Parts: sequence; C-alpha cells; structure tokens
Amino acid sequence: MKKSLFIKRRNFIIGSSALVSATASQASAPLLGPSISNFRRFQLGNFEITTILSGTRTINNDPQGIFGLNVSKEVFSEVSKNNNIPDDRFQMFYTPTVVNTGNELILFDTGQNSEGTETALISAGYYPDQIDKVVLTHFHGDHIGGLRNSKGRTFKNASYYCGELEYEEWDFSGNDTFEQMVRPLEDEISMINPGDDIVSGVTAMAAYGHTPGHLAFIIESNGKQLLLGGDFANHYVWSLAYPDWELRFDRDREMAAKTRRKILSMLAYEKMPFIGYHMPWPGLGYVDTHNDGYHYNAASYQMML
Ligand SMILES: [Zn+2]
Repeated sequence: MKKSLFIKRRNFIIGSSALVSATASQASAPLLGPSISNFRRFQLGNFEITTILSGTRTINNDPQGIFGLNVSKEVFSEVSKNNNIPDDRFQMFYTPTVVNTGNELILFDTGQNSEGTETALISAGYYPDQIDKVVLTHFHGDHIGGLRNSKGRTFKNASYYCGELEYEEWDFSGNDTFEQMVRPLEDEISMINPGDDIVSGVTAMAAYGHTPGHLAFIIESNGKQLLLGGDFANHYVWSLAYPDWELRFDRDREMAAKTRRKILSMLAYEKMPFIGYHMPWPGLGYVDTHNDGYHYNAASYQMML
C-alpha cells in the first residue's frame, strides 16, 4: 500500500500524463509552504521549560560581515562548506523561553516585537497576562522589542528583572528602542547581579562582552541543570567551532570571546544542555570539545526520557 502511494506521488511530480490521469480521481493538495512549529516544551526536574519561536528570517547579505570579522573570506567559506551551510546567507531565529517552576511563569526575553511572541505563547498554551516575571538577558532590540504592543504593556501582570550593570550602561548611552521599551519600567524593574536568584533554581551568571551587562542563567531543578545562554554565542558553527571569530554585535569583542570560551568549556565539561536565543530552532543543544573550539550537538530526545 505504502509503495503504490509513493509511486503515484513520484510520477505526479515528474508529470507523466498517463499516471496523472490514473490518479485523477484524487483531488490534488495545494502546496502549503514550508512549516515550522513555534514552541517546544520539555521537563527539567520539576520545572517545565518551553522555547518560544517569536520569529525567524533569512539574512541574505554577507554573514561573514556579522560572524567572522577577523577571518579571511576563504577561511569563512571553507568552514561553512565543511559544515554544509552556505557562506552567503543564513537563517536567524529569535527564541524567548518560558520557565514554569510550578508556582510561577517566568519569561526570558521578549522577541523583536510582541506579535510573534504572543502568537507563540498562545500556541504553547499560555496567555501573556499569565506571565509572572519577565527577565531580560540584555537590551538589544531583538530581546526587548516585545515588551510593549500597540495597546501598551504586553505582559500586564509581570514584574521585571534585568542586570544592574546592563541598566546602568543603557541608562547612560541608550537608544530609541531602550527608551521606548525599557525606560517606562525604570521605577519598578528589579536590578540583579551575577549569583542572584530570580526564584530558587534560577540563578544569574555573568556573560559580559556581547553587551556590558549581559547575563546568562543557570536553571536547576531536582538535580537537573540547563543554561539559558541568551546571546553569549550566536551561531552554532561560526561561534561555537570558532569562539574567537569576532561578531559585529559584540560590544567588547575580546571580552565576548573570553566569555564564549569560558561558558562553552563549562557546558562541555558538565555535559549541560543549553538554550541559545539564536541557535537553530528549537534552540536546545549540547556542546562537545572539537579541535580548538566546540561542536554543537542539537538535542534530540534526551529531554523526553
Ligand atoms: Zn540577540
């Protein structure tokens, strides 16, 4: 049965008129376009973690100008080719994460805008009004852009958290998106520092360099750990295999490279999974050491066991 279906489909594609007429009694299905899920949920100890795809887009110009500022075009092309990805375009993902501790819903980062985040949250079974806490890893537009929608605050019942150092920096030299999205929270946002807990089991960790006060978070429940990495590394090949390649968006490139090496080495040593905001969807993977860098090992079914 399976086999005959396969033959019909294949011949339909190559357009054999005899076979097309042989299958004419079946209505042809319209092409639906590529599809991708917009949430992925798994358990970590007693916590439930959901990655939320707030958006994805193809960037068609010069990835080397973003991810490999300090290497030659030849090296960039060779590495890309060896890893089966093109060197002239790439796919960008934006991945906020929801942690349900059993008592509270905590959202980490908010997407480029509220629309995609709200849609994905609802797909995942949550309403924006249910979010108890919003934690910001740093203040780049693709992480804070979802704080407000056309009606005002997207997460009406939430309290807000960010790194103290990050706030101080942007308070001094902010941009329009900061003024629009974060400044209105000035009087109520809670400032945190490395080592501080958002709640028991959610601990901030310094990951400075991408921005001056960028934070990552260790999530721990019932003996299981995961790193929520934000933007400490932004591409699964160009940043993980070559942590010293310079990223255009890293404010302090030397410090960012040191941070990448430090965190990647910890993840590899501890065999700890991590969620990267810009890793390939659904954003969850492991890290192995490889040559002088690291290899991204996308999660498969580990979290289902
Ligand atoms: Zn980002």
